Amino acid sequence: MIRKIIAGAQVVLPTGTQQVDIFIENEKIAGIGKTKHFPRTDNLIDAKGMIVLPGLVDIHVHFLDRFMGTVSLHDFFTGTRAAAHGGVTTIIDFANQSKGDSLADAIQRKRAEADDDVVIDYGLHAEITDPTPSVLHEVRHIVRAGVPSFKVYTIYEGMMVDDGVLIELFEQTARYHGLVMVHAENSAIAQRLKQQFLSRGKTTALYHALSKPNMVEAEAIHRVVYLGRWLNAPLYIVHMSTREGNEIMEVCRKQGLPVFAETCPHYLCLTDNVYRRKDGINYIISPPLRKTEDIKALWKGLFNGSISVVSTDDASFSKESKIAGKDSFDKVPNGMAGVELRLPVLYSEGVRKRGMRLERLAELTSTNPARLFGLYPRKGVIQVGADADLVILHPEKEVTLGMKTTHMVTDFCSLEGWKVTGYPVMTIFRGSLIVENGTFLGRKGNGRFLRRKIDFNEIRTLR
Ligand SMILES: [Zn+2]
Repeated sequence: MIRKIIAGAQVVLPTGTQQVDIFIENEKIAGIGKTKHFPRTDNLIDAKGMIVLPGLVDIHVHFLDRFMGTVSLHDFFTGTRAAAHGGVTTIIDFANQSKGDSLADAIQRKRAEADDDVVIDYGLHAEITDPTPSVLHEVRHIVRAGVPSFKVYTIYEGMMVDDGVLIELFEQTARYHGLVMVHAENSAIAQRLKQQFLSRGKTTALYHALSKPNMVEAEAIHRVVYLGRWLNAPLYIVHMSTREGNEIMEVCRKQGLPVFAETCPHYLCLTDNVYRRKDGINYIISPPLRKTEDIKALWKGLFNGSISVVSTDDASFSKESKIAGKDSFDKVPNGMAGVELRLPVLYSEGVRKRGMRLERLAELTSTNPARLFGLYPRKGVIQVGADADLVILHPEKEVTLGMKTTHMVTDFCSLEGWKVTGYPVMTIFRGSLIVENGTFLGRKGNGRFLRRKIDFNEIRTLR
């Protein structure tokens, strides 16, 4: 029997933050209160002055992602290891369908890549890119098999689905308790602007952003919200980047619709000014980085509940692979690494700088993703009976983010040189210490595949 006590920290509980001790037995949280009331153990972590949060859940990462002729650098070992350094104890990746694949095939393939390599728990979303009738018929079976979330794109030739498919998918997920996740951008407008720029020789990174103005995202969000609403189907907008998108979400929240949005650390920190830099192509992502006003709106959304989740969208395409587009922005693989950066960025920029409550930080990074994606209350909360997945944060530790200080295996860090105060120093995964002061102590293959089940009542009461 493994027993452990974390003593003296400020612990972020659903009811508020208090100084309490946590008793861990085997893989579970077995007690919250005072050490003198717990069974004896010598295995004591003195965490005085520290903050303990529920282990982070990152429901948006792309490990071993094949896209635009290249593959992301993070595999399921290096990716989950970097995640663990950032206080993450659960990730959800995407089982991308190849042409002709069933969803079950895609899930099987991804599991074969992940199962022996993950150092933390993981789940998968089914990504639908070849929506044949048999694939749509498969939805109910895939939900039952523990993969109840379905990602679609409204952009990218060869991957996108049309509105007819979306409606049918909403029909299926509303009936069988699934959740549709949408990468929302208006393809026709973005394509047209792109062609116009390229034909005029405007090929630099800046034109990637200019070919996708805010309206490209906002129109698509507006449309999919309308379609989802028609069938009363829950909907999740991935990586929302614009103030216009946030306005739509504010209306959805007011109307009590089961529509939720996520944003990512880079949209909260960086503007499209980076595209004017010499290394601008490294920042090519979709949707693109925006303006200061958008950053303000997104932060407001995190505070007022119009945005429910912060994920990283880690897609670790190297500088080397991005060079493919040095003469034409449309040849650059879209994506950046970031799986390790979320907690330090949100603590420093959110809690310290903007006065975000610790409870809200936990909601955005752990509780809400766990509730929306069917992992709660096993994950996403510090309470008796939950998995002992915890992150211990040193609130005064100063770190300059970048290649030297992080453990992502890429050759480029989007927040290079960014100074943060407050940093994760220990990660505990199912009762075991897997990261201690920058040293990885976990084991390849120790993570497990999580079969998830989405509870629509859980979703409807979430903010
Ligand atoms: Zn993504």
